[in-house]
Amino acid sequence: MKKFNLSTKILLAMFVGMIIGLLFNAEINILPQSLYKPLETYALAPIGTMFINAIKMLVVPMVFVSLVNGVAQMGDIKKLGRVGGKTIGLYLITTALAITIGISLALLINPGSNSSLATGNLTFKVKEAVPIMDMIIDMVPTNPLKAMVDGNMLQVIVFSLLLGVAILSIDKEKSKIILGLFDALNDAIIKIIDYIMLCAPLGVFCLITKVLATLGLSSLVNLGLYMITILIALAVHLIFVYTLFLYGFTKLNPITFYKKFWPVMSIAFSTSSSNATLPVNMEVVEKDFGVKKSILGFTLPLGATVNMDGTAIMQGVATIFISQLYNTNLSFTQILTVIFTATLASIGTAGVPGVGMITLAMVLESVGLPIEGIALIIGVDRILDMCRTVVNITGDAVVTMIVATGENEIDTDVFHSKESTYVKKAAITKET
Ligand code: ASP
Repeated sequence: MKKFNLSTKILLAMFVGMIIGLLFNAEINILPQSLYKPLETYALAPIGTMFINAIKMLVVPMVFVSLVNGVAQMGDIKKLGRVGGKTIGLYLITTALAITIGISLALLINPGSNSSLATGNLTFKVKEAVPIMDMIIDMVPTNPLKAMVDGNMLQVIVFSLLLGVAILSIDKEKSKIILGLFDALNDAIIKIIDYIMLCAPLGVFCLITKVLATLGLSSLVNLGLYMITILIALAVHLIFVYTLFLYGFTKLNPITFYKKFWPVMSIAFSTSSSNATLPVNMEVVEKDFGVKKSILGFTLPLGATVNMDGTAIMQGVATIFISQLYNTNLSFTQILTVIFTATLASIGTAGVPGVGMITLAMVLESVGLPIEGIALIIGVDRILDMCRTVVNITGDAVVTMIVATGENEIDTDVFHSKESTYVKKAAITKET
């Protein structure tokens, strides 16, 4: 197994799990049910539940620490002023657009309707929609610790943002200590995510085997539709929204942009991590697009931490998908709640593999959908993670181009020059 990297292992586990699950499915009836029952009771169900529990365990600490840390990335709030405002505004608008596209497509394609998944013992009672006014009032916690214990994410977010801003506003010497602490905590939580991801092949195997053994072949059709819906939404956002924003705000040629940007996209695809892609993204945006460091040094690290349009798309589609599987119609207010919480959830998602699934729990919870629904989609998440990370980092670069153009901090001759750092580097490596 050493030869395979983690992604390959997860994908392999997914395929093997699908096949074994199908062999055990009562309709297909190749392997005996008498064998399946103990396997489910003593292995598939407990290991699957432990894996999902481990994911849930990280929701509160991750969102809290990553948000405080994200705000800290902004450095001096007062100095940032206009650039900060523009960047954050554009990040929020593109993210909200992304979720809207995802949700609209999901409502159009209905990946979870008429599903065997829906009839397979999945019942639960939906939480009543909370009136918007009450939701707004409820955003301010009376007790932040209780908010964390209850997993009330909106309250946790409000408190985290306030704390982040306050830390930046106090005496520099004092804030250094606490920022160092949050930075280290952030790394530690990402380490725990690494540990959980190491167990992902086993977790994914158990969960997908159980889904297919119980629900059979037709569940694959729904999962396939779910994946297709996300892929289309990602493509629409990448091709239309970013291209329109880039051309509309900067008049720069999007084709030149994508031609020079693809090496960054390919690294995002293969690592599934905005953080891991950040150094290459910064290099290309500076050397190939001519953006000044003063801008990209702020916008790109912040984007890699808080701007996740692809993740937001997945969360929008996944929420609709799971609601359809559970035969629940979300009301208009609930859909607005999803747009709102998925924007916040994607902000709270750290730029490392698989985290979007963790913060999805928060979106599901906001409309009272069962977090257990994640078990049905996590098996296919790795492939989607690779694709959504490409959109995540492209969004960061597009917003950076727009802000840099607005601030006149871009050398367009560099952008238009044919030479690309990566093509040049490749040529030098070939010669030597
Ligand atoms: N892998 C994504 C990123 O790093 C985050 C996620 O959606 O899981 O951008």
